[in-house]
Amino acid sequence: MIIILEPGATPAQREELVADLHARGYGVHLSEGVERTIVGVIGTPERDKEGLVEQFEALPFVERVVPILKPYKLVGKAFKPEGTVINVRGVQIGGGTLCVMAGPCTVESPEMLFETAKMVKAQGAHVLRGGAFKPSTSPYSFHGMGEDGLKLLAEARDMTGLPIITEVMDTRDVELVGKYTDIYQIGTRNMTNYSLLREMGTTRKPVMLKRGWASTIEEWLQAAEYIASQGNYEIILCERGIRTFETYTRNTFDINAIAAIKELSHLPIFADPSHGTGKRSLVSAVSLGAVATGADGLMIETHPNPEKALKDGPQSLSFGQFEKLMQDVRPIAQAVGKTL
Ligand code: PEP
Ligand code: MN
Repeated sequence: MIIILEPGATPAQREELVADLHARGYGVHLSEGVERTIVGVIGTPERDKEGLVEQFEALPFVERVVPILKPYKLVGKAFKPEGTVINVRGVQIGGGTLCVMAGPCTVESPEMLFETAKMVKAQGAHVLRGGAFKPSTSPYSFHGMGEDGLKLLAEARDMTGLPIITEVMDTRDVELVGKYTDIYQIGTRNMTNYSLLREMGTTRKPVMLKRGWASTIEEWLQAAEYIASQGNYEIILCERGIRTFETYTRNTFDINAIAAIKELSHLPIFADPSHGTGKRSLVSAVSLGAVATGADGLMIETHPNPEKALKDGPQSLSFGQFEKLMQDVRPIAQAVGKTL
């Protein structure tokens, strides 16, 4: 359940309540809005709920107590109705800005990474993406440059000032990846890797959680809840397409999910039309659709020579195509009240 405090509740009253909740053995999470504090209470037994609602509602500094029936609580809309806004090295994610993360699927060499980083920066992207630890359906394909790739990403950040995002696939790599990255990326294949999710919850860096390719929206939000339950609330959701019967596209980009997440959660929601379509010719149109639907950001793959890319070439935009996308998305962002 969540306890919504009166706007005038004092810090002492809040602390008294938190101490009481802890003494009862419940988990406590605080969401401090501009106007009021919301206290998320985890672990109240079903049979006690009604009595607890009455008890807490009787407190003079409590405005309302809301039992939460959904299987996710901390990432649900009610816990932070004003929406989560994340700040990474001065880049705002969520809260009325459109944030573009762009770069190659995979870090392949210093030259290609630095060239791409400079280009995306010049075109107005906000965050540089690039994989160093790559998941692959085949055990025989390229799995990324590992720590050398992370070092190159960090160098590209120094060069451009762009914060970086990169995937972590294994709990054993969390510390190493965290030495370099600004944002952790959890890929589609790991959305249900609960030990990795818990580990993400104990870090103090933002986490982008991609939707599992065969996961419902509710399962996805529960995966996000794993991270939040450990105390890390800086979570970015990313729709990257799901598997359907359709084979023309690599995945089916679920535009419904963008609108649904806006309704259900306070977390920023990104769109990844590169993996969502698997086809570079479709990336721009689907990007515009996602922004019009309310996405807080885009994640786009681009490569200096997509034909030669070691991974995901068919869905990677050429530099010219990326430039055009950035131009085309501006009026759409404006039309839905977002600054870019
Ligand atoms: C990626 O971003 O390159 C990637 C592997 O994404 P996903 O996990 O969505 O397939
Ligand atoms: Mn990729």
